Amino acid sequence: MKYNVGATIEEPGNSTLNKTSSWRVLKPLVENCTKCGLCATFCPEGIIQIKEKAVIDYDYCKGCGICAEECPVKGIKMVMETK
Ligand code: SF4
Ligand code: SF4
Repeated sequence: MKYNVGATIEEPGNSTLNKTSSWRVLKPLVENCTKCGLCATFCPEGIIQIKEKAVIDYDYCKGCGICAEECPVKGIKMVMETK
């Protein structure tokens, strides 16, 4: 019997194909932003860009809430995901 040992990455750079937001329960909403960039620094997915305000790529946000926890002005609110 032939099988792969462990988790094998057969195609490099394929993580963008996996939209990891499908199992999100809570969703961060940016309501107030001073553009300090802390949320982007702490987001483990690296999917927050600072533009006119913090902009979250919801295709890859897992809803962990770290951004909301770290925001110094409490400008990110976690709300229930609706599908
Ligand atoms: S941490 Fe808060 S204030 Fe800072 S960029 Fe993110 S949302 Fe804006
Ligand atoms: S909830 Fe987690 S994954 Fe989503 S933007 Fe905030 S820190 Fe990143």
